[in-house]
Amino acid sequence: MASQNKIPQATAKRLPLYYRFLNNLHLKGKTRVSSKELSEAVKVDSATIRRDFSYFGALGKKGYGYNVEYLLGFFRKTLDQDETTKVALIGVGNLGTAFLHYNFTKNNNTKIEMAFDLDPNKVGTEAGGVPIYSIDNMEDHLEDVQAAILTVPGTVAQNIAERLVASGITGILNFTPARITVPAEVRVHHIDLSVELQSLIYFMKHYPSV
Ligand code: ATP
Repeated sequence: MASQNKIPQATAKRLPLYYRFLNNLHLKGKTRVSSKELSEAVKVDSATIRRDFSYFGALGKKGYGYNVEYLLGFFRKTLDQDETTKVALIGVGNLGTAFLHYNFTKNNNTKIEMAFDLDPNKVGTEAGGVPIYSIDNMEDHLEDVQAAILTVPGTVAQNIAERLVASGITGILNFTPARITVPAEVRVHHIDLSVELQSLIYFMKHYPSV
């Protein structure tokens, strides 16, 4: 992972996107890809792709492109694809249930291992093959879990985040509208679907041709 420290954050964020596309190419038996082809597929301009890839030690050759195998090897190492990251989901409502049914492992090595909820009708059951435990004794189950997805109501997000952090979780994907505060060493990515939709509609109206 040492080399990852040198990759700029903006580049690192595009890594999973590149990884997914290259993996599909590899599955189709393709051994090389041009930056133009990549650019059209992932919607990132080719100058940015060339700069990104130079951080990965991959130098495209004119008329040849990039070696798919080499890039995949690099991405696997950097994204820790060889090791499955265990994820817990908190809040098995509409959104949480959808995530439990979604097959994340199709494209990467993450797996929701367990879920937690307050509702006695949900506790003790499962959704998408994932067991749902009581939020009351969440801490008893989290030993090997590194990341959490928060799909609880915003009002309880901070409290649950604090309990997760105290249990050693270092990454939280927060789908609640609440902004949560965590220690600096914990990474929080915030995805508010209603804000994203509103923002899309704003851009459709005000920047229709871009
Ligand atoms: P639903 O239709 O099941 O109510 P929803 O997504 O509209 O789903 P929310 O009120 O957002 O409902 O709650 C999401 C889930 O979080 C629910 O399953 C709820 O039982 C659960 N939940 C609420 N408070 C907590 C809590 N403190 N700890 C754990 N789970 C909680």
